[in-house]
Amino acid sequence: MTSSSEPIVYCQRHADVETVLACGRCAAPICPRCLLHTPGGIRCPDCARLRRPVMYELSLTDYARAIVTAAVAAVPLGFLGAILLPPRAGSGILVLAIGLLAGLGAGTAISAAMSRATRNKRGQSMQVIAVVAVVLAGALRLIFAGLDWQLATQDLAGGFAVVIAAASAWGRLR
Ligand SMILES: [Zn+2]
Ligand SMILES: [Zn+2]
Repeated sequence: MTSSSEPIVYCQRHADVETVLACGRCAAPICPRCLLHTPGGIRCPDCARLRRPVMYELSLTDYARAIVTAAVAAVPLGFLGAILLPPRAGSGILVLAIGLLAGLGAGTAISAAMSRATRNKRGQSMQVIAVVAVVLAGALRLIFAGLDWQLATQDLAGGFAVVIAAASAWGRLR
């Protein structure tokens, strides 16, 4: 008798192959011959065939549409920001409230435009594209306003707006 108390497990598809591997989704025993690597870990052939919901799958066209739409939306948003919320030194509740509103508006505008352009795609790629567009809009705002570096470092409302916009777009595209 060996000392091992582990029961011997055989691959579900290859009854003569001992294995210690199991599908990460349904826990079926699988051997190296039939396991498949997926972004979520190893899977049995049945589970690997189940695809992710279609809204998380972006085609090349979707990527192109999302990137172009986000970049195009950033330009008027940066322009509006320079006009409606020009960079200026200041702090306090009112400044933060203005930054919050501007950020929510900008984040909503960018994520809504991207959703429309891609027929409601979501997920990490969409989120990253949206955040890059938010940062671009924030940079364009400073450029349109005359690019005063000293003012830019004291521009609390603008910085807060960028953070809020990024967070709201991220949340909406999750
Ligand atoms: Zn499985
Ligand atoms: Zn097998």
